Amino acid sequence: MQPSLPSFGDIPAADFDRAARRALEWVERYLENPERFPVLSRVAPGEVRAALPASPPARGESLDAILDDFERVVVPGITHWNHPGFFAYFAISSSAPGIIGELLAAALNVNGMLWKTSPSATELEQVALDWLRQLMGLEGEWFGTITDTASISTMLALAAAREAAGLDVRERGLAGRADVPAMRVYCSTQSHSSVDKGAIALGLGHRNVVHVETDGAFRMRPDLLAEAITRDRAAGFLPIAAVATVGTTSTTSIDPVRAIADVCRREGMWLHVDGAYGGVAAIVPELRDAVLDGVFLADSVVVNPHKWLFTPIDCSAFYTRRPEVLKQAFSLVPEYLRTDVGGTGDGGRGMSGDELQRDDQFRVPHPSSPVPNYMDYGVQLGRRFRALKLWMVIRAFGAEGLAARVRQHMTLARELASWVEAEPCWRLMAPVPFALVCFRYAPDGVPDEEADALNERILGRVNASGEAYLSHTKLGGRFTLRVAIGNLRTERRHVARAWELLREAAAAERDARP
Ligand code: PLP
Repeated sequence: MQPSLPSFGDIPAADFDRAARRALEWVERYLENPERFPVLSRVAPGEVRAALPASPPARGESLDAILDDFERVVVPGITHWNHPGFFAYFAISSSAPGIIGELLAAALNVNGMLWKTSPSATELEQVALDWLRQLMGLEGEWFGTITDTASISTMLALAAAREAAGLDVRERGLAGRADVPAMRVYCSTQSHSSVDKGAIALGLGHRNVVHVETDGAFRMRPDLLAEAITRDRAAGFLPIAAVATVGTTSTTSIDPVRAIADVCRREGMWLHVDGAYGGVAAIVPELRDAVLDGVFLADSVVVNPHKWLFTPIDCSAFYTRRPEVLKQAFSLVPEYLRTDVGGTGDGGRGMSGDELQRDDQFRVPHPSSPVPNYMDYGVQLGRRFRALKLWMVIRAFGAEGLAARVRQHMTLARELASWVEAEPCWRLMAPVPFALVCFRYAPDGVPDEEADALNERILGRVNASGEAYLSHTKLGGRFTLRVAIGNLRTERRHVARAWELLREAAAAERDARP
């Protein structure tokens, strides 16, 4: 049936009303029971695309027809991150307040590039980020801005570090300059690849990211960091930044931030803390000291509410104690964006690149205005109203509700770790500081390489079940299974079922051996 479309303007209100109700009902049923779907999508590569027309419709279609295809074609191609059996990567989930926040943000469709382009977008971002900072107990003066991902937040931190090095890369670039030594960034062998990507994007060069070895618990060795810096200085490199991680991707290890901060202070380097996953755990009061030890000494830190704070992806909180440097790296205000309000530090006029170069007073503009123009603190101009969902999530769960959920995930992880330890032939591969358990099936007499392949097959069997989805890593060169607990809907029975599936898969593999 063709919809009754007017020639211009939006879809008729009655059609919107019907479709919106249908979509909302679908969402309600979905969130009540995501388990009715296999957690890992079973479509073959290309299947979703093949089920859809190759070219766009000439005439508009009804929202009902589109929703039919959403259910028929799109949903089967979804891997359900909301499924309580989702234990892969870092398990994330949306939540009712977060979904409502996304819906309203899409309806408002504001672009929060300047304070005046939507004062509420800017001021809610200030409020939500300051609330999150307080929830975590991150003390001190921090300027926060929301980005899409930790990868971008870390890239911004490295750009600020490069700016702080005083080489005027912003204006003069890097290429063809005899006066610029190769700059180096230090992280650990366990750091996330986003550090490398940030360095690549900024023209620092991938080979100038130095991966410092870790100790037996996968934490960066500050003594080796200091040695690497000394060696590099002697060889003519310019160390500009270190990235410490609170909650590494493979094992959730926590780097000794305080000791790394000491090295950075001595060496005049920027310290960025990647707390994309683990930082959020500081909202649990009894964990705060362990999670945040030394973090207040950093120049910048990122935590991802879209990882473990039930905020729909994407939402990354980037904090810095040196916003003036970040702004110096990125603020560039074309005429059409000049405004009389906002913390540009230049009377609200906004700075052009020329002015930055000409007048040293403009080089370190502190956002003294009570309101920033957030476009000044990064690459992107247009900005989604992400603060709305974060603000709603924090309000709806409250400090205690959020902490209780994170604490519960950690309890479940510790319980799973105890099951693994108690079971013959299974071996824990790393400590469990948060809610991730790394382990492997290692029967006596099976050589390591064979056990690698065995664990890979066990993983395949569990993931084919549709009931649980795990991912893997390599630790000490050995294939390792990872169970990450972080989903709002995951209960003890789901973890127990995953453990049962793992043991069944191991038994099936044992029986299948010649
Ligand atoms: N840092 C750590 C420690 C991570 O585990 C991840 C992703 O899992 C990232 C950064 C990148 O996060 P994003 O997807 O937000 O860029």
